[in-house]
Amino acid sequence: MLSTMQDVPLQIRRIMEHGLNRHSTATVDTAEPGGLRTSTFAEIGAGAARLAHALKELGTGDGDRVATFMWNNAEHLEVYLAAPSMGAVLHPLNIRLPGDQVVFIANHAEDTVVVVDNSLLPLFAPLLPRMETVRHVIVNGPGELDAPEGVTVHDYATLLEGRPATYDWPDLDERQAAAMCYTSGTTGDPKGVVYSHRSIYLHTLSLVAPDVFDLSFRDKVLAIVPQFHVLSWGLPYAAFLTGCSLSMPDRFLTPEPLAGFVKASRPNKGAGVPTVWQGLLGYVKATPDADISSLTSAVIGGSACPPVLMDAYDEMGITLLHAWGMTEMSPLGSLARPPRGADADAVRAHRLTQGRFIASVESRLIGPDGSVLPNDGASVGELEVRGPWITASYYRADDPEKFHDGWLRTGDVGHISPDGYLTLTDRAKDVIKSGGEWISSVELENHLMAHPAVAEAAVVGVPDEKWGERPLAAVVLRPGMTADYAELRDFLGGEIARWQLPERWTTVPEIPKTSVGKFDKKVIRNQAAQGLLD
Ligand code: ADP
Repeated sequence: MLSTMQDVPLQIRRIMEHGLNRHSTATVDTAEPGGLRTSTFAEIGAGAARLAHALKELGTGDGDRVATFMWNNAEHLEVYLAAPSMGAVLHPLNIRLPGDQVVFIANHAEDTVVVVDNSLLPLFAPLLPRMETVRHVIVNGPGELDAPEGVTVHDYATLLEGRPATYDWPDLDERQAAAMCYTSGTTGDPKGVVYSHRSIYLHTLSLVAPDVFDLSFRDKVLAIVPQFHVLSWGLPYAAFLTGCSLSMPDRFLTPEPLAGFVKASRPNKGAGVPTVWQGLLGYVKATPDADISSLTSAVIGGSACPPVLMDAYDEMGITLLHAWGMTEMSPLGSLARPPRGADADAVRAHRLTQGRFIASVESRLIGPDGSVLPNDGASVGELEVRGPWITASYYRADDPEKFHDGWLRTGDVGHISPDGYLTLTDRAKDVIKSGGEWISSVELENHLMAHPAVAEAAVVGVPDEKWGERPLAAVVLRPGMTADYAELRDFLGGEIARWQLPERWTTVPEIPKTSVGKFDKKVIRNQAAQGLLD
């Protein structure tokens, strides 16, 4: 028997229209040199309609890929709304990837149009001649760009000028592609994930819930996580769904201008990776007139949240909410909020886990022998997930290793407690296998970063004749501080079993970071293999 319900396709267009009809006065602040500019949702909606008219005139049709090479800003939001709503596919390119990878990704996705921020032209210009399918480049802001043969360069504002502020958005199949992102390709070529209107709509509905990001029109959210990093974790669409205002830092992402932007824009919530929150903390502590007091909570994810970082933000009255996800998961999988009735210690312990899976994300742990492990808080295995916003394959690339009977293999290793809290102990490729036992690099790093002299720490496995692998700890000391390795080892010894303690140590000026600001352990492993860290 069929239901009597109306069959309304879940389209991004409907998220946009809700934001425009109900929250037209909500705002987007974009950071500018020495200040900010504010746009209303109504203005952004009108911009999106004008852009759609322009894109159509340039020949953009159903399913065509519209790429961006942009920071987080108001115009980038316009592309986020226009491209999928008109039936094209939004494709934010990661501006921080090596040029060769950006070119590979643009060619693999067959991008036809790229919208570029003028501040990024020096990075973009040398790549454009190698982008084989790009026909139009739209530059946001004044700037010069030499067009290779077959490519036309447009100025964003001029292109939109005089066009209608409304657009007859089409009805689309909710399973149609709406947007795509590539993984950062730490091993092999980057791989593309294609999100549908339906998957983004459902992900957005879940994201805003009280136990997840908890967003409403009473909020203003600082989206530090770039729009090229898994669609800024869904915040642009969440904003139009709820009417929450946005603070977009554009290119002002180093601690000093970022703190200045927070002071000027006064968001109450935020989202970003641990290294960003770490940098902001250091600056705020050292700068008496820095003021980020408008923030009350912020989502932290992308890699594990060090306990000292969470404690330091707690002291400032800012609750860090630990979340876990992946490009392949749109990205959100879980978020850590403590259970009702927990005492202070239990609250802290629960907040430091990767949290509970959000509704619609199913999980299971697979042991080394392929069996499904119990959620007993002790059995450690590889995490597999499935659900309506989790990819079932990669775009034009086979990777059977990543899929298992309809489940996505996350490559993350950990355990799940009986009450459903996920604790990740490592990425499968970062686990240190010593004498048949596993050592968690994350646990060692978290404890090391609690030492007052240690600013950052990364632990990797290095080959060892007797044990197979042993941990090597690379530490960054705080300016003006010292600590010898014996002292750091003793410090760890209070928390960690003796056999897990690193006997190899090195001090480095900084831990290398990936394009989205995570510790790049592959680089450290390579440096160790070349004897550069001895
Ligand atoms: P990339 O592969 O480019 O780093 P993703 O952002 O998709 O791109 O990374 C997903 C991975 O990041 C996860 O599989 C997991 O290993 C790691 N990760 C994300 N959030 C957390 C977290 N809260 N704690 C630990 N690891 C995390």
